[in-house]
Amino acid sequence: METQIIGCYSGALSLAKEYIEAGEVVAFHTETVYGLGANAFSDDAVLKIFALKGRPADNPLIVHVHREYDISPLIDGEPKYAAALRRAFLPGPLTMVYPSTGKVSKYVSCGLDTLAIRVPSSPTAQAFLKEVDLPIAAPSANLSKHVSPVTARHVYDDFHGKIPLILDGGACSGGIESTVLDCTGEIPQILREGLVTREMIVSVAGDCKVYVRKEGEKPKSPGMAYKHYSPRCKTAFCRAAEEAAALYDEEEKNGGAPCILCESASIPALGERATLDLGGTGEQMAERLYALLRRAEENATLLIGIEPKEQGGVMAGVRNRLHRAFGVENET
Ligand code: AMP
Ligand code: MG
Repeated sequence: METQIIGCYSGALSLAKEYIEAGEVVAFHTETVYGLGANAFSDDAVLKIFALKGRPADNPLIVHVHREYDISPLIDGEPKYAAALRRAFLPGPLTMVYPSTGKVSKYVSCGLDTLAIRVPSSPTAQAFLKEVDLPIAAPSANLSKHVSPVTARHVYDDFHGKIPLILDGGACSGGIESTVLDCTGEIPQILREGLVTREMIVSVAGDCKVYVRKEGEKPKSPGMAYKHYSPRCKTAFCRAAEEAAALYDEEEKNGGAPCILCESASIPALGERATLDLGGTGEQMAERLYALLRRAEENATLLIGIEPKEQGGVMAGVRNRLHRAFGVENET
């Protein structure tokens, strides 16, 4: 199968609609990362997503809809705070988990009695969703465990020859996956941190918990239990620049090509060593992280990460992805 990468003009949209209606999988731009989408009502189409990604069968998918799509048949009621959050943050990088009515394919939620719904703000995503006018089940468009894609090229690298179409909307400005928020309880609860922060949710809903999985407990958001976002080169993670410099010099002495991924403020202390600059703010780090991880795996034999000092806002989400990419167990 030939994989076409096409910008979002009307010919591309009607082609995307044809593929979706035929049960195919189509990749599309969103403001967070690229998605790998299929008709959420079709068992076969949803199962294709799992097969393509090599995704574990217990890791549920998020359903994407356009801004005017009526989600009420899909969900079994909505607390007041959820309606307020929808008005405040959608379309945007916030996924809301509701009690499900079970109308979409059972494979979407992998046996959970909830359904995760997202209304992306990307004009490409909106145009695509409007054209098909269906709920589209879509995880990130990367092979399972690999770094999430933030350009059409990244999607192509993982899936060329395997999917017919990538709807190209340019680079993703958000850069990390949506915040996943459980809206089934009295107080909203963050299952995955992202660009819509806890502070932003509290400002609208009055309160917000952050889910921490207890030892031995079944995870509330199964995807968060998996190793994720890993570049395909050796990695090491450090708390300080001196430690990173020592590892770098050792790798170079052994004939390797090391590289250090860190926030801008750490770079002067690293002298002439090769670095990848995450930037200074949480937003910059979110936008650059995955593209830099993908660049590193192409060029470096060893990627050394340094813990950023930046705190607050979207740094909770950035830190979570960074730690997962480097396999750091104890998140702070
Ligand atoms: P991905 O789209 O690959 O970035 O992953 C989607 C994320 O949403 C995973 O962490 C899933 O576990 C989570 N998710 C999807 N559906 C649900 C649900 N019904 N309840 C809780 N988490 C969900
Ligand atoms: Mg993913």
